[in-house]
Amino acid sequence: MSGDSGAPTNFIRQIIDDDLASGKHARIHTRFPPEPNGYLHIGHAKSIVLNFGIAQDYPGSCNLRFDDTNPAKEEEEFVEAIKDDVRWLGYDWDALRFASDYFEQLYEYALELIRSGKAFVCDLDAEQVREYRGTLTEPGRPSPYRDRSIEENLDLFQRMRAGDFPDGSRTLRAKIDMASPNINMRDPALYRIRHGLIHHQTGAEWCIYPMYDYTHPISDALEGITHSLCTLEFEDHRPLYDWVLDNITIACHPRQIEFSRLNLEYTVMSKRRLTQLVQEKHVSGWNDPRMPTIAGLRRRGYTPEAIRSFCEAVGVTKSEGTVEMGVLENSIRGHLDAVAPRRMVVLDPLKVTISNYPDDTSEALPAGNHPKDESMGTREVVFTREVYIDRADFREEANKKYKRLVLGGEVRLRNAYVVRCDEAIKDADGEIVELRCTYDPDTLGHNPEGRKVRGVIHWVSATHGQRAEVRLYDRLFSTANPGRGGQDFLDDINADSLRVLSECVVEPALTSATAGERFQFEREGYFVVDAVDSRAGAPVFNRIVSLRDSWGKIAED
Ligand code: ATP
Ligand code: MG
Repeated sequence: MSGDSGAPTNFIRQIIDDDLASGKHARIHTRFPPEPNGYLHIGHAKSIVLNFGIAQDYPGSCNLRFDDTNPAKEEEEFVEAIKDDVRWLGYDWDALRFASDYFEQLYEYALELIRSGKAFVCDLDAEQVREYRGTLTEPGRPSPYRDRSIEENLDLFQRMRAGDFPDGSRTLRAKIDMASPNINMRDPALYRIRHGLIHHQTGAEWCIYPMYDYTHPISDALEGITHSLCTLEFEDHRPLYDWVLDNITIACHPRQIEFSRLNLEYTVMSKRRLTQLVQEKHVSGWNDPRMPTIAGLRRRGYTPEAIRSFCEAVGVTKSEGTVEMGVLENSIRGHLDAVAPRRMVVLDPLKVTISNYPDDTSEALPAGNHPKDESMGTREVVFTREVYIDRADFREEANKKYKRLVLGGEVRLRNAYVVRCDEAIKDADGEIVELRCTYDPDTLGHNPEGRKVRGVIHWVSATHGQRAEVRLYDRLFSTANPGRGGQDFLDDINADSLRVLSECVVEPALTSATAGERFQFEREGYFVVDAVDSRAGAPVFNRIVSLRDSWGKIAED
């Protein structure tokens, strides 16, 4: 039970606890039912962590079921990507199913509904169906085809399947209640005709396809699902879910429970919008590191642990809300702070010559991989006469609060010596091109006596460091709620969501880093080796997240 595992509890786990205690169920069975019409996003992760997490903790089973009843938008590519993402998040399914596995059974159940007078073939077109349906305040009117005989309905439905009628000419509808206050119960469509589609599982076998509201309860019941968890917009569909199962001969009746969707600031989550971003090339693909897709977050450098702990932190409730992006970012900071080795990388190099350090010498100095975890060991950083520091770490003049290098001031080069800046050399435009410093050979591993050093900055040897490309990713949208008030969400795209720095200098230990390896670049943030564009010996780094939440604020050192 959830209480024993230390897993977070929520109202759904409470219901499950009660169902186990009362003996209603001996074992729990959930499912995650994505439609393969796009890549999974962070919202899906919430549903995955919930469904697979319950199966893990109770224990029970969780199926991965593709809700593939709309072949016009679904593709094999998405099926494979979804399987891959679920596994990457750390879960495995007990059974892999497709709603299309049940097409024949669904058809048989439709015949049963027709035989018992609970479904009819309707000849109204889509426009007319809308007219007849009524509104929230007015009841609908019965279709003129509602009272067809069972024989005629059977004949017509069989001929629908046989391909005798064109698209849109007929539907199979449930016969429920045109006056119901719930519009979903006003004789909803169960089947529609779709010719000429090649379904990724069933090929050209079918020209009628069952509707989601009809397919879903039956698929759940056939799989013996005990708790069918879905998002709140399906609350009004629950009476139909129950109606379908109450009106066919089927042993199992899963309980549908709704929870609120995850909404996240500074991004969009609807598959329609994500598809548009990809198709119109506002991003480089579904796995662009700025996308809220699992594939994007993964390439960005997020870990499965961070995404799972984010989902758990957000929790499962019935109240709608929008989660701050900072919550997601903190989940990865928290994980990587503990596990990411530290490295030194200069993003905006400024050359420093240490005048009193011999030209023909270099020193391999030990540098700890993690300040709080000695078990992570050390690597060597090479100290030489010429090093790079970041341009942002030098000012000709600054007040005492400035903890970096100033002309005439001293600063520690991390893992190495204290240096003093003697001279800033400028080009004809007055831009600083090089610093001349002197080092104090007596300051390795301890501070000088009687003098105050301003702070510690990072550096890389100019002769041993290597140039590398670093990509600074930021939020894809510049407003918390893109497309707010009916505006075009594309107008809210953040023009600075990607800055490519091609002249960065990385310490020698990083040149052999391999795809997916994550590091903290000291004082800069967390970075991952890009899995797509890196080459052996030439890694490209993606910024996962800065060290602190500096969005909208000016980062002070
Ligand atoms: P969209 O409306 O963007 O196409 P969807 O809900 O139709 O998304 P599905 O593939 O049908 O996407 O979703 C699979 C499962 O994931 C469903 O159970 C759905 O409720 C859940 N899900 C989708 N988006 C979210 C979200 N933002 N938060 C929580 N669960 C979600
Ligand atoms: Mg859906």
